Amino acid sequence: MTYPHTQLFINGEWRDAEGGRTLPVFNPSTGTEIGRLAHAGIADLELAAQAAQKGFEIWRDTPVNERSAIMRKAAALMRERAPQIAELLTQEQGKPLGEAKVEAMSAADIIEWFAEEGRRVYGRIVPPRNVNVQQQVLKLPVGPVAAFTPWNFPINQAVRKMSAALATGCSIIVKAPEETPAAPAELIRAFHDAGVPPGVIGLVYGTPAEISNYLIAHPLIRKITFTGSTPVGKQLAALAGQHMKRVTMELGGHAPVILAEDADIGLALKTAGAAKFRNAGQVCISPTRFLVHHQIADEFAQRFAEQAQALKVGDGLTAGTQMGPLANERRLAAMQAIVQDARAKGAKVLTGGERIGTQGNFFAPTVLSHVPLDADVVVNEPFGPIAAIRSFDKIEDAIAEANRLPFGLAGYAFTNSMRTMHQLNQRLDVGMLWVNQPAAPWPELPFGGMKDSGYGSEGGPEALEAYLNTKTVSIFHA
Ligand code: NAD
Repeated sequence: MTYPHTQLFINGEWRDAEGGRTLPVFNPSTGTEIGRLAHAGIADLELAAQAAQKGFEIWRDTPVNERSAIMRKAAALMRERAPQIAELLTQEQGKPLGEAKVEAMSAADIIEWFAEEGRRVYGRIVPPRNVNVQQQVLKLPVGPVAAFTPWNFPINQAVRKMSAALATGCSIIVKAPEETPAAPAELIRAFHDAGVPPGVIGLVYGTPAEISNYLIAHPLIRKITFTGSTPVGKQLAALAGQHMKRVTMELGGHAPVILAEDADIGLALKTAGAAKFRNAGQVCISPTRFLVHHQIADEFAQRFAEQAQALKVGDGLTAGTQMGPLANERRLAAMQAIVQDARAKGAKVLTGGERIGTQGNFFAPTVLSHVPLDADVVVNEPFGPIAAIRSFDKIEDAIAEANRLPFGLAGYAFTNSMRTMHQLNQRLDVGMLWVNQPAAPWPELPFGGMKDSGYGSEGGPEALEAYLNTKTVSIFHA
């Protein structure tokens, strides 16, 4: 599929920005410009906000079974178009084509689950204290939503927000990532082609701070949802607080992977070890800090390094590629700085640690061992293909180390001991814990974090609750 010029989508129409401003899009495998996208200005944002209000008034009154049917049609279109959409995604983001296809296909799964769950947004009847009174609790859509989504999963991060908003009767303006614009535009096209009325969905790109400042403060926008880094999330949550807007924040993580004394090393390598390099580690729930019992630490480190070294790194469109480039030059520079810092502080580089070649943003899958606690890689989210290994003696020490950082998104553990599992369930500061298995963030499960990883959930019934207002109605009739 030829890489397109990506336009804004406002009031049911694809259009260029007023003033015609555009930005370039680069292929991270080659560094070459592959297309351009429209850069919205304030006039475009105002049109989008007005359209979202009009769209909301139509959509909230659309019967829930009709909304659900339109959403299921959008899911079918995503499934049908997944091969073409995946090609666009790989070209702009870099991930291997297989991973891109999974992302496009799983969008359909997410839309379908929300389409069904939206039909079960029940209020309740509360027994009254007076027989002539009827007390109802209503759940009503919060209103037009502004969503800010990042470049690591350009489809997935947008579809969770859109599906929850649409399932509850809200309209939504998506500020999708400027670096990877075409794949999310195809997601919006699927909803439009499925029959979502004009104004219910808007799509804008531009200068992120300008868009967030304008839309968060806008009186027509009633809810903000953001996925991205913790520092930006804190800024946006503060701004939303000033304007008393509902907020969901899905922010950074630094997932601990605890291998207890009895861990199955082969299983840990096949699941968490392999997942470390998915999307070149640019994943908020990426397994990152491997905390391994000292009796198995050396064996695990050696086997992990061998596995990482054997990965085929290359252009995501090339058959057999297991890991693509980093999505942008900022991540490449960040990986180089992280390894340099760890080396200087005494960590061992078991494999990788270097850029590959001089063209594109390729960085070798990297495994570090004996990483000291003050090394940047075990303090700040690496967001790249770097794994850090530390050993521990007692499970309590591993838990303390896991909880040392302000993050609390995902965690992983390998053990068959009920006692250890129970300790981890109760004590690990994470929003999601996967034991003896890879992450499985199905739409029916809550997805979100605690502490600096944010608040709110993007899965399960909790995800719908975030788009609903609760209204108490008490009626007296003589
Ligand atoms: P960044 O902090 O500049 O941006 C992160 C995201 O926020 C981007 O999508 C960006 O467009 C958006 N953003 C930035 N400023 C904004 C503003 N004022 N208003 C609205 N949106 C704004 O960093 P980056 O270099 O693009 O990404 C690297 C870091 O971002 C990583 O270290 C990682 O922590 C984080 N990140 C997290 C996720 C996630 O899934 N949680 C996804 C992408 C990036």
